[in-house]
Amino acid sequence: MNDVQGYMARFLNRHDTYCLQTPDGRYTRRYQRVTEELVTGHLLGHHTLACDAMDIHGFTQWLCFDHDGPDGLARLDQLQDRLAFLGVVTLREASRRGGHLWLLTADSVPAAFLRHLAQLALRVVGFTCEIYPDKDKGLGLKGLAHPVRLPLGIHQLTQQRYPFLDVQGRPVHGPDAASGLAWILGQHRNSLTFLHAAVAQLEMAIAPDPPVFPRASRSTTTGLIAWVNEQLDLREVVAKTRPEVGLREAGKGYIGWCPWHDDTSVQYDGTPGTPSLYVVRDRLHGWSWRCLSTNCGANSGPLHHTFDWLLWHQAGQLPQAMALANEWKGTST
Ligand SMILES: [Zn+2]
Repeated sequence: MNDVQGYMARFLNRHDTYCLQTPDGRYTRRYQRVTEELVTGHLLGHHTLACDAMDIHGFTQWLCFDHDGPDGLARLDQLQDRLAFLGVVTLREASRRGGHLWLLTADSVPAAFLRHLAQLALRVVGFTCEIYPDKDKGLGLKGLAHPVRLPLGIHQLTQQRYPFLDVQGRPVHGPDAASGLAWILGQHRNSLTFLHAAVAQLEMAIAPDPPVFPRASRSTTTGLIAWVNEQLDLREVVAKTRPEVGLREAGKGYIGWCPWHDDTSVQYDGTPGTPSLYVVRDRLHGWSWRCLSTNCGANSGPLHHTFDWLLWHQAGQLPQAMALANEWKGTST
């Protein structure tokens, strides 16, 4: 599969119809096949495509939050933070006004499910914006879902190509389509299992009496444990103790291979293994990690902090974990 085909596989929910953006920024519907040539033209800036947010059965491979307000990008940054904390990887894209936040999925999933997740997340962060798909159900062969301008193309009204942004709001790829394409094809797509886990956590967060994520109680009682949790960079701790994890950036967090269960082997249905160890730094909780696979012991229980990683690394032996922390503290002062 070449890069354009990879892009099509991620963003096209339908291949039998599309919309073209006109110079005034509106869209005209075409009932023609979406070909590789057509998509290549979009990426090169010859014309601009918008494609349906779901297929005729109501399934989609992405959800797009669209915030048009002057503070849109800042709001979406907040939403991206909250989702990152739950292990959901999203990609923030600038737009003519405000921005878009894309959530890509590894499989085609029901639009109703993704919309449920999106609505819960918006309730938790306390603002609203447009969500595409904007309907829960498929409309059949004759029905048309709301089109969304595909990323990396040129906006016909401004003739600008809007980039995806990093945490600081800087473009994560070059101004040309090729570098944007290479970047987006390397981005993590969320699996349905992990999204289910995020929905469950969001539902808990908005429950009438929300349980708070407990901080590891040991961290307040032992200075050394607090030092590990507050001073060490968990990414470095992981690289030092379990280099096979191979953490790489995924939205605002990091994903790698879980050392506590086998996520590398081919699944029963023939799909390749998925890295499932998730590491993230959150303003409120500091560094934390978990395994996103529900088949793994490191999936459940309270939030795992950096010291918990040492504990897992030393097979649950507290004295050994403390000894390792002591050794590091000794060399750091
Ligand atoms: Zn695991």
